[in-house]
Amino acid sequence: MGGVAPEEGLNMARRFFVEDIGPDRPYAEIRGEELRHLKGALRLSAGRNVVLFDGSGLEFEGTIESIGRDAARVRINGSRQCRSESRLGITLLQGLIKGDRPELVVQKATELGVSGIVFFTASRTVPRPDAQGLLRKLQRLKRVAVEAAKQSGRCVLPRIDLTGFTEALRLRDWELKVVFYEGEGVAGLMGVLGQGQRPRSVAALVGPEGGFTEAEVEEAQGEGFRPVGLGPRILRAETAAISVVSILQYELGDMG
Ligand code: SAH
Repeated sequence: MGGVAPEEGLNMARRFFVEDIGPDRPYAEIRGEELRHLKGALRLSAGRNVVLFDGSGLEFEGTIESIGRDAARVRINGSRQCRSESRLGITLLQGLIKGDRPELVVQKATELGVSGIVFFTASRTVPRPDAQGLLRKLQRLKRVAVEAAKQSGRCVLPRIDLTGFTEALRLRDWELKVVFYEGEGVAGLMGVLGQGQRPRSVAALVGPEGGFTEAEVEEAQGEGFRPVGLGPRILRAETAAISVVSILQYELGDMG
């Protein structure tokens, strides 16, 4: 698969992520990778209107006033509450998988509106990359999340993290925690979701290529994760991850 090159839709052409704009600042500056994108791929010039988002859930209409070597200066004309964020906070806890499939999972889960993607090294994670490799991978995944958030018109960047298994289980006290396990006799997702309550935060735990060990499933259950099946077929980790986020947004979020 040739990587996950970002599409250049209209949203993408005009949207830029800028840290901490703040609700009533008259100006903002686009720097770094976002500035390179503005000058390089998009060749925008002064006078063009752009949309900025800072991760706070606000988005800002602005006009480029000047473009310098290190920053583009944008006059803020107005701000509005973002409409593209789901009321459901989904954290995808994903066993680290090989090649550029983590990038695929980050791109698709970001488009689908997750609030966080936490990769973890489990006992069956292969290959076990070194610290340097993990750091480079994390940087790349964060960049993919920015591009996918821009392209999909989001105003918040999902949190992208890399942790150990136990740490991932304890990151937050989610209202609903589900571990996807292809073992015998586990309940279906409908059985877990169809009980009427509408949690506002969910953790979806998906294993690496080699799946979970019994001990890992037990440890997850000990942390309040409910084992759930996804039908009789064995899905690749990335298929399971993208499917469960879609199902959760449909049932509990804003895609139904
Ligand atoms: N153990 C599998 C491979 C794991 S698939 C094998 O024997 O080949 C990677 C992950 O996707 C699993 O750990 C699980 O979290 C999820 N998954 C895949 N198919 C699933 C299913 N039918 N039900 C529940 N989870 C599934």
